[in-house]
Amino acid sequence: MPAHPRLNAWLKLAQGLLECPTAALREDLPAAHVAAFAHARPALFLKRDAVGNLLVGYPGNGAGAKAPIVLVAHLDHPGFWIEAIRGRTVELLFKGGVRLEHAVKGAPLAFYRRGEAKPTGFGKLEKSIGANGRVVSATARIERGTAECGGFTMWDFPGFSVRGGKIVSRCCDDLLGAAAAMCVLDELARSKPKGVAAWGLFTRAEEIGFYGALWAVKERWIPREARVISLECSRALAVAPQGAGPVVRVGDSASLFDPPFTEALRQACVRVQKEDPSFLYQRKLMDGGACEATAFCSAGYRSSGICVPLGNYHNQTGLDGGKKGIGPESVAVSDFAGEVRLLLELVRHGRGLAKLEGTTRQAMAKRTKEAVKAFRAHPLRG
Ligand SMILES: [Zn+2]
Repeated sequence: MPAHPRLNAWLKLAQGLLECPTAALREDLPAAHVAAFAHARPALFLKRDAVGNLLVGYPGNGAGAKAPIVLVAHLDHPGFWIEAIRGRTVELLFKGGVRLEHAVKGAPLAFYRRGEAKPTGFGKLEKSIGANGRVVSATARIERGTAECGGFTMWDFPGFSVRGGKIVSRCCDDLLGAAAAMCVLDELARSKPKGVAAWGLFTRAEEIGFYGALWAVKERWIPREARVISLECSRALAVAPQGAGPVVRVGDSASLFDPPFTEALRQACVRVQKEDPSFLYQRKLMDGGACEATAFCSAGYRSSGICVPLGNYHNQTGLDGGKKGIGPESVAVSDFAGEVRLLLELVRHGRGLAKLEGTTRQAMAKRTKEAVKAFRAHPLRG
């Protein structure tokens, strides 16, 4: 796919967010970053709910608020909370899903204080303790600097780099999903189209059970007529490889998404591909994990998902063979660019979505008429 003329601007937006350290219920920095992004663009509105979820919407005056397209992405990532310090030993509690066999001794850690981008120190994982095969707690050794109670850790890899056509980061899931929503909002704030209503819902604490999304559902923060799209980085699968385009997600490991809306997303892909035959997309069941579309679908929303295939899901290396350990996550640049492009197509033609949602029903109604005609012309003999 030839590079999109806005790709560098999109990667810059992604870099700004991916460089914010984060963990579940420790989303201070990415949340502040998204808020600053919204403040800098008068064409957008910003709202914050009681638990710190953020809503950034176009247009800034809230027009079209009855049935906006809502792009949901979460601001946290699996990591440890720092619970206690004994000399150079740190006691850690894990928040998120990582298999125990990957959290190996010597895995590199950076220690953070809440709300500060610069690490206070660095260390290595000593011993991990698990339950049901997943990491629950661990001890680590401080090698440089300090660690502070109440802080958190990230695996010590760069926040953002581009290597061999891939975005490589300690945290693609899900800051890159949030970055895709920011790219769409930025494009809308620049071009100011009329009759478009698109919101980004930036949630907290997805990795420990969709807490932020469930709170937004409970508080009815999103109107019932909205169309809700979960933007995720989802574990790359043999049937959904990296570099083969963004994925229209028919479901996750927990549920199947709204069929008419999912079909509308696929129809949008077909449209983009008509315009540019080099645009790639996939339509798959991404059951390597669960996502916030399950929370919205379960509450009766018309919701589905778009994701980009993720390498080293939750920083786990060797998921498909090879040495098990901890490494940076990755997403193909072309998949990310394709995702933003697809989302722009969707939000710009948001009013046509209802029609696209009826595509399958209409096609079947038409074919039923053909079938009746054919059976009348060719009755069974004898
Ligand atoms: Zn995740």
